[in-house]
Amino acid sequence: MVNAAMNRFKKRRLTPAIKLELITIAGINVLLFFWFAEIDLLERLVDFAEEHEEWEIDEIIPLFFTLAISLAVFSFRRWAEVTELYSKVKTLSIQDPLTGLNNRRHFVSVLESEIARSQRQNREFTLLIVDIDNFKSINDRWGHNTGDKVIVKFSELLKAGTRKSDTVARWGGEEFIILCPDMDIIAAEKMANKLLLSFREAEYDQAGKVTASIGAVCASPGEQPESIIHRADVCLYEGKRAGRDRLIIAA
Ligand code: GH3
Ligand code: MG
Ligand code: MG
Repeated sequence: MVNAAMNRFKKRRLTPAIKLELITIAGINVLLFFWFAEIDLLERLVDFAEEHEEWEIDEIIPLFFTLAISLAVFSFRRWAEVTELYSKVKTLSIQDPLTGLNNRRHFVSVLESEIARSQRQNREFTLLIVDIDNFKSINDRWGHNTGDKVIVKFSELLKAGTRKSDTVARWGGEEFIILCPDMDIIAAEKMANKLLLSFREAEYDQAGKVTASIGAVCASPGEQPESIIHRADVCLYEGKRAGRDRLIIAA
């Protein structure tokens, strides 16, 4: 039980600002301790209380201790609430609400970091754009709810068919985007073909069989995010024009 409480405590973020405040409070209290010892504060208080019995000061002094403890508990609880709220807001700001995948904004920031990292460490990475085929007809025929379920099913298949180190995001309506660090185009081709197979073989409730098209690109050193995404997009639409349910890799 104590361990559980400690773990909960550790999970709450001790930010540098909070650490500084705690150290300052401790420092001030240590200084006050020496000063109180120097001037014999408690003795003076006791003397004063004895001189003025009628004011009942000796009854009031213990209240300072209980008040201090109550304030400490109150502050801890507010701090715990704020940290929990902060972590919820952070999750919401990077997550797509329907699928729980990363959202577009977060993906762009991960992509920017990956470009910098790959340049620094001279490594390659691959980016894939996945778009569900003829999705509009699923919506038109079976309704928006079924369409949503198909999107959620795709997000599960994408999660299952990628590595933990990959970043999968919902790029827009029925479009997804995947960043695969340290993956060359040959490994990416294998992964994308497996994904296409899993899309073909999955069950989508009443929507029946659903497929998707994928555009893949291995980023060139120093290439800008817009250019990488554009090249993957061009491949995707080439796949659509060629009949869908296929992978096209950038030359
Ligand atoms: P293609 O094979 O060329 O990709 O055709 P498509 O029908 O999949 O593509 P299109 O862009 O014509 O239609 C996409 C549709 O996706 C249109 C839009 O109403 C629908 N859509 C976008 N976001 C959502 C969503 O969150 N839920 C549902 N159910 N539908 C969505
Ligand atoms: Mg589509
Ligand atoms: Mg689309």
